[in-house]
Amino acid sequence: MQYYSLQNHQHSVSFREAVIQGLAPDKGLYFPAAIPKLEKNFRERLDEHDPLNIARAVIQPFIGDDIPEQELKKIIAATLTFPFPLHPVEENVYALELFHGPTMAFKDVGAHFMAGCLGYFRRHEDKPVTVLVATSGDTGGAVAHGFYNVPGVEVVILYPSGKVSELQEKQLTTLGGNITALEISGTFDDCQRMVKDAFLDEALQARRPLTSANSINVARWLPQMFYYIFAYRESKQWKKETVISVPSGNFGNICAGMMAAAMGLPIHHFIAATNVNDTVPRYLENGAYEPNPAVATISNAMDVADPSNFARILQMFAQNERALKASLTAYRFTDEETVAAMEKVYKEHQYLMDPHGAVGYLGLKKYMQRHPGHTGIFLETAHPSKFLNTMPESLQSQVSIPEQVQELSGRQKVSVKMEADYEQLKEWLMQS
Ligand SMILES: *Cc1c(COP(=O)(O)O)cnc(C)c1O
Repeated sequence: MQYYSLQNHQHSVSFREAVIQGLAPDKGLYFPAAIPKLEKNFRERLDEHDPLNIARAVIQPFIGDDIPEQELKKIIAATLTFPFPLHPVEENVYALELFHGPTMAFKDVGAHFMAGCLGYFRRHEDKPVTVLVATSGDTGGAVAHGFYNVPGVEVVILYPSGKVSELQEKQLTTLGGNITALEISGTFDDCQRMVKDAFLDEALQARRPLTSANSINVARWLPQMFYYIFAYRESKQWKKETVISVPSGNFGNICAGMMAAAMGLPIHHFIAATNVNDTVPRYLENGAYEPNPAVATISNAMDVADPSNFARILQMFAQNERALKASLTAYRFTDEETVAAMEKVYKEHQYLMDPHGAVGYLGLKKYMQRHPGHTGIFLETAHPSKFLNTMPESLQSQVSIPEQVQELSGRQKVSVKMEADYEQLKEWLMQS
């Protein structure tokens, strides 16, 4: 499969190149030159296949010959090491739990898959490549865990100081080894801008080859399709059409779901649920794409004002706003609404949601109220224990603390502090 840059459709590269480069030299995101189709026969008999084979069949056309079958099998087996259960919450409403992985947020799948691909592509190189990544919270931990001890790969993670949860911070600052955390005095959007500047800096790249592990990287973005395929596999027997609500920040996850739908997965409608960083809901409302400065919320992994992957969603619909609106609805919710939903769902259904999942739940309920007659799934993207400090007090004592978390609390944070200034980042990268 070839991938072209969204800035210049004439510029195209292989999967391998797209993974190694992350972003195209002209700052465009890479987009597949063709959208493969799921065969009807395969789609209708998903329950006869095992998840590893399904995953391979779905992603293989996006990779082509760049990774041999046996290697791809290994990468997928090392990625899908935990379940993605569909948990009934209330009538016609299910939570797709994506938090059973090593860092307890859905980004584990993309991070491990990408680490496998990059490790394979770099297997004969002596010069290490640096994975440079900005995190609004969960990417950092997932990438640190996914790439920890991968030979030939160094990882540098930028995170906004004081704007990630304590546990998220521990997950990205305590591994050591080939993982370094840079603590930036600024917002996630500052971190993301610094990373983008670094990619465009030829002098820096000549000295220290860089790649990205944000969802702008196709190897992190595309495997997220698996969740939707697995959810559909579970829900196939439902009589009603399925709608899926995705708590969205940088819009990588929902964009992967919409890609699966473009391949032929029968999802009736998508709902993008955001917190008050609501650039996309406003855009779908009035047609103007106008990012405001990012605002800190309790669903911090979604505090993104200018979501990179939205450009991919627009491309999927050939910039046709009308077609896009027929498949996608977006709503925004405040922290107060989010907390109220967490409390209500726990009280009425004894189901504990994290703040991100709660935003997804709210989006689903709002859509289903206005468009009755569907079965709804919302993505529960993180384990509630990751956000203990921001949980309503009434719920804190209900959160069970998984083993992975208990183990982290005793570890020492190690970070390099830095201003939100690209020149400082460059100097540090050139020297260390
Ligand atoms: C990253 C993240 C999101 C947002 O996902 P995007 O792909 O950036 O839209 C939602 N919830 C959690 C818990 C996350 O870590």
